[in-house]
Amino acid sequence: MSIAENLKQIHTKIEKTASAWGRDGAHINLIAVSKRQPLEKLHESLDAGHRLFGENKVQEAYEHWENIKPQYHDLQLHLIGPLQTNKTKEAVALFDMIHTLDREKLARKLRKEMAEQGRNIPCLIQINIGEEEQKSGIAPNELTDFLHFCCNECAINIQGLMCIPPHNEPPAMFFALLHKMAKQHNLPHLSMGMSADYDKAIPLDATYIRVGTAIFGDRTP
Ligand SMILES: *Cc1c(COP(=O)(O)O)cnc(C)c1O
Repeated sequence: MSIAENLKQIHTKIEKTASAWGRDGAHINLIAVSKRQPLEKLHESLDAGHRLFGENKVQEAYEHWENIKPQYHDLQLHLIGPLQTNKTKEAVALFDMIHTLDREKLARKLRKEMAEQGRNIPCLIQINIGEEEQKSGIAPNELTDFLHFCCNECAINIQGLMCIPPHNEPPAMFFALLHKMAKQHNLPHLSMGMSADYDKAIPLDATYIRVGTAIFGDRTP
């Protein structure tokens, strides 16, 4: 199937799932994850009218989008991968949302860069929802303190939470936990669900789903 057909099919599934759970499909934003995809495919999705993209590396995001972004005033780029503090400047210049705020040092650096560039980019806090050793994100029980730090010490616009559940476990209970945490803290946005499980994130109020292979096909290694 073509990328246009994939997008159409996914939008249909989003609408169907949303209405089955009493949600408005318009509140669910489909992020097309374009990491490790060739430029032709990005253009194909742009031609199909798609405008919201996710990348997990700052460097690659520039290679993909630096020349394209100025041509589309409504194009939105979200950073969905870990951000090193030495890439903060480039990240603030390019991205429209950062999903992976996960430590105080990064929050401080982001605040400084955003002030310098006059760009106030909304951020999501990444939660290590399965409390896995090797995964990024703050531990669930650190959220209250970290949120306070980001909002009050750094004046960062925190819009919600993001998670990547453990690989080999059913994701729904992790989505439910993230949902509960967002609700407790009055945060409106939830970034959760990928190609394999976005239909399970929608009933739990996902507002950003991050879908790569189901739109673009397999990634280059
Ligand atoms: C790669 C990636 C995705 C997309 O994964 P697919 O299985 O291709 O849909 C989503 N979220 C994050 C954080 C990713 O790195």
